[in-house]
Amino acid sequence: MAVFKLENVEDLYEIGEVLGSGHFGQVREVRERASGARWAGKFLKIRRGAGSRLGMERKSVEREVEVLQALQHYNIMALRDVFESRAEIVLIVELISGGELFDFIAEKESLTETEAIEFLKQILQGVSYMHSKHIGHFDLKPENVMLLSNTLPNPDVKIIDFGMAHRFIQGEEYRSMGGTPQYIAPEVINYEPLGTAADMWSMGVITYILLSGLSPFQGYTDEETLRNVVGMVYEFDDQHFSQTSAMAKDFIQKLLVKDQKERMTAEDCLLHPWIKPLTRTQIAKRNRSSINMKNFKKFNAKRKWKMSYNMVSACNRLCRLQLHCKTSALQEQEMRQCESDQEDTETKPASLLRRRLSSSS
Ligand code: ATP
Repeated sequence: MAVFKLENVEDLYEIGEVLGSGHFGQVREVRERASGARWAGKFLKIRRGAGSRLGMERKSVEREVEVLQALQHYNIMALRDVFESRAEIVLIVELISGGELFDFIAEKESLTETEAIEFLKQILQGVSYMHSKHIGHFDLKPENVMLLSNTLPNPDVKIIDFGMAHRFIQGEEYRSMGGTPQYIAPEVINYEPLGTAADMWSMGVITYILLSGLSPFQGYTDEETLRNVVGMVYEFDDQHFSQTSAMAKDFIQKLLVKDQKERMTAEDCLLHPWIKPLTRTQIAKRNRSSINMKNFKKFNAKRKWKMSYNMVSACNRLCRLQLHCKTSALQEQEMRQCESDQEDTETKPASLLRRRLSSSS
């Protein structure tokens, strides 16, 4: 078992504002007391017992830390330190203050393919490095591609959230069902042995969306989306791809390939003529083609709305779960009391909670 620093994180860092939230905790800005340097602190709640449903398994955090420790690349969020207390593990990571790449792009009036490629190239460089270390991210999506700062015209891209990442060990198969339906590869849905190629499928989906503002496999329900992915149901319709170059479509087509072995690797992508043009004509074609900004803005607004909706739903679920846990504990206690108090026969959770609330007020 990995051992993290047992000092109190607040002795060394001043805890600041909330920057974002995930399933198991918050990310907050922190300031190192000794140097004044600004970092981000990812505060992860840890599951306390085998029966508990709240928080993350310690093993999962250990895996995320191990992956981040193995990755030192300019386009990947850097890990500085890890602290542990009874209920929480805190990852001190590089502060990435430029927001999400997609939000930055959605603010623009227009964007040529050449400009869009500058961002894609940075993501691909990070992914290529990660894959060279035999690590797959398995959750590449717009929410996990951020910018170091948004004040420069050409900001630096940073890949974040290695909570689903996996380090491959030679000779060991890896299967996972995790991910976000819109972005996951068919082999993930089919529960087949996975490789780093699954990330390349997600890169294909991200590129498709970036150029058209359409999500290639999105259905009305998650089930329909997954069916579309497995059935490879996608097209480049004229309405959304009228400003897109043939080279860009070729690039996407070589990523959205069902057979993992036939899919382009990140290294292949960096050498594809759309990313690395060889002739003047290819350069000119990229400059003349642009992303479908009107539709991209619509896609991004809808995406942000969905994220807020999911966050509210997650909070509601958590509240219900906490209520359930408290009620179960209370029920147990009440049951014990009932043995000596035969008059008290009411054991329904709601009423127990009501009693508990009224007794504590
Ligand atoms: P999820 O439940 O989606 O897997 P998570 O708990 O693993 O999330 P992250 O996705 O890593 O958490 O972070 C949650 C949010 O916090 C991000 O969407 C982002 O807005 C913000 N964030 C994460 N890392 C940083 C960072 N290094 N600097 C600034 N903000 C960050």
